Amino acid sequence: MFEGKCEVCFVKYYEGKVRKLIKKFDLIEKGDKVMAAVSGGKDSLSCLFLLGLMRGSLKMELEAMYIDLGMKGCTGEKSKKVVEELCRRIDVKLNVVKISDYADRSIIEAAKITGRPMCSVCGVAKRYLMNKFTREKGFEKLATGHNTDDVIRFFFKNVVSGRTEWTEKLKPLLKPLHEKMVYKIKPLFECEERENEFYLSVNGIDFVKNRCSFRDEWKEIADKIESTKKGFKLSLVRWLEKVKIEETPRALKECEICGEPTSSSICSFCRIFKSV
Ligand code: AMP
Ligand code: ZN
Repeated sequence: MFEGKCEVCFVKYYEGKVRKLIKKFDLIEKGDKVMAAVSGGKDSLSCLFLLGLMRGSLKMELEAMYIDLGMKGCTGEKSKKVVEELCRRIDVKLNVVKISDYADRSIIEAAKITGRPMCSVCGVAKRYLMNKFTREKGFEKLATGHNTDDVIRFFFKNVVSGRTEWTEKLKPLLKPLHEKMVYKIKPLFECEERENEFYLSVNGIDFVKNRCSFRDEWKEIADKIESTKKGFKLSLVRWLEKVKIEETPRALKECEICGEPTSSSICSFCRIFKSV
């Protein structure tokens, strides 16, 4: 049972919610080539499974990509295994992208050299490889497992820092800002992490728990509000779907080293991961 819903009713509600969102924002159109970025966590596995179910009715081409971040002793091996298992089960081609094929140094070395937190260095690598690999494979859309809790977390952080240029990034569909960028889609925009976890358990899909171990304060705060104001999270992300703040987009050019889109002369990935 999930909040009074039996498994059958939950699945109908959950899949219906995602289908409606995909339709409402034209996240996927007939003939689209969609690359699902899958980390082995509950959200991106749910996203891949759902897209696998819908690929016939939406008439799209679907493949998956897993980024091997080269973190020894971390949960990398188990993550890769669960992604491979699901791809095999639903017959989706899996592409394994190794950071070591693109970078001159490891994530740990890069964090040490630049003095930046591991999470930030890791995030730069993932965003860079997801866009570059998807485009070079000839796919135009990248689907991630970003969910309601992620969106609310970004929202709170941005409100507190006083920034406004984030509003477009917090939409279910992010259009490319440069010819070398792909569309980013978030099919699970209206789904909470706990819903994704329940959906996987109903479907007997194994996943890897919490790979990064920082305390998630913003989620705790959102959960606290939700506990007294039922429906708060869903209402907030639905409001974010509509809100618009006019911003002049930053002009993007191509990185002098790798040619990928960037707002400065050398992109963050090359600054962090290239030794030249
Ligand atoms: P995160 O930044 O870890 O919260 O991840 C956000 C989204 O990026 C996930 O839902 C996945 O779609 C994607 N992602 C994260 N890590 C990986 C990975 N190692 N390989 C492929 N996709 C990933
Ligand atoms: Zn570069």
